[in-house]
Amino acid sequence: MAITGATVIDPGTGARRRDVTVLVRGDRIAAIGSARDVRVPAGAQVVDGRGKFVVPGLIDSHVHGSGQEQIDLPLFLANGVTTVRDMNGQPLLYQWRDRVEAGTLSGPRSVVASAIVDGDPSLLAGLGAPYVEVGDPAAARAEVHRQLAAGADFIKVYVRLTPQAYHAIADECRRLGVTFVGHTPDAIPLAEASAAGQRSFEHVYTGWFDTAGAEPEIRRRLAEIRVGGGEYNSWFNQTHPLEVLAARTFDPARARAVFGRLAADRAHQVPTLTQHRVFDLPESVAQHQDRLRYLPAATRDGWQAQLEQVYLAGRTEQAAAEHRELFAARKRWIGAAHRAGVSVLAGTDTGTAFVFPGFSLHDELANLVEAGFSPLRALQAATSVPAQFLNLPDVGTVRRHAIADLAVLDADPLADIRNTRRLHAVVVRGRLIDADRRDHLLRDVEAVAAAGTLPARLAGCACAPVSVAG
Ligand SMILES: [Zn+2]
Ligand SMILES: [Zn+2]
Repeated sequence: MAITGATVIDPGTGARRRDVTVLVRGDRIAAIGSARDVRVPAGAQVVDGRGKFVVPGLIDSHVHGSGQEQIDLPLFLANGVTTVRDMNGQPLLYQWRDRVEAGTLSGPRSVVASAIVDGDPSLLAGLGAPYVEVGDPAAARAEVHRQLAAGADFIKVYVRLTPQAYHAIADECRRLGVTFVGHTPDAIPLAEASAAGQRSFEHVYTGWFDTAGAEPEIRRRLAEIRVGGGEYNSWFNQTHPLEVLAARTFDPARARAVFGRLAADRAHQVPTLTQHRVFDLPESVAQHQDRLRYLPAATRDGWQAQLEQVYLAGRTEQAAAEHRELFAARKRWIGAAHRAGVSVLAGTDTGTAFVFPGFSLHDELANLVEAGFSPLRALQAATSVPAQFLNLPDVGTVRRHAIADLAVLDADPLADIRNTRRLHAVVVRGRLIDADRRDHLLRDVEAVAAAGTLPARLAGCACAPVSVAG
């Protein structure tokens, strides 16, 4: 197949080439050049790219697969998302990964975490999400081996690990050459975690205590937090005032030191502002009502219940104002980290309430621009930067011999990042999803969602407060 007469943007270099033909053979880009230099063979499928912009297929670096392959996978592809990093491993998600790789399942390529490795007791007990508790260093080391044997591509750590267990995981991963990522544990400062080898930090919450003038007080109060197994919302409520304190006492001098450490270690921040926006500004979900038709009633109802019973119930006017303040502060914080040279990945946290496979990644790009990223830097956070981090040198780029994962846009994303939503066509490993096919995909998802015959959802996610009932 070929795309003719288009403008190609390669985010890695920032280069823009006008009026070129992109020739795809099999799953690779065979040639890129002017119409004179690149001959389109007779019988090739041709996309008229005049006035269009070709960028790499997008990468969402923080998702939670729902287990419903007829929902998640087409929604990602229809939105130009051709690679995902799944943050909570379980057997079905390892199967999706392997089937996509083998070409027997249509979906984005995926790189999949271990089950979440938390301390003992874990906040996740009883919530249905896959997790493991490790109490001591020996258990922590053994768990790393067990998770890798089960199919994990990397290890995900969580908030209640003790320093001893955490450093045992870090050491075991270093020994094995395995990446470990995740939340910043309560007991480990961000800079210490970065120095220990943790390579991505999810969300902007416990990670920003390091940059606060009030850090000594925050650390003292963190150490006093007592939560039993499964007391997830209690943990959230106890850390909330510490977040407010961290936001209000942000200290540029401390930030310089911490961000310098992260940049030197090539540690990545994955701010998931999309998920924070839902929790901090719950009224904002109203703007995405039109996406709900792609989800089964059980998912929609679960999200609505969570919104009303957990996010909104009991939120006083003061708490609401604090959350508005926090959301603004999270954007400022990730903007400052970015300006200081810290690597940032675009991730959404699909699977948490009102965060949608595919659609939400475009929101995250806009969030990053609101946080001060140029459109090019935002695009890099969903293409070239995660491709390098995930060790996928042939994706996230538009160049000869690269994998033909492409998004063809109706307007220039570097003029306005919201133009990434204006998808004309998507190419997945050389296979064209044109405008017609894309409409079909979305209509099929809508029909499957409406039929209500889907298998039970995986309880995959616990990155935001959840209802503990049931
Ligand atoms: Zn998380
Ligand atoms: Zn998550």
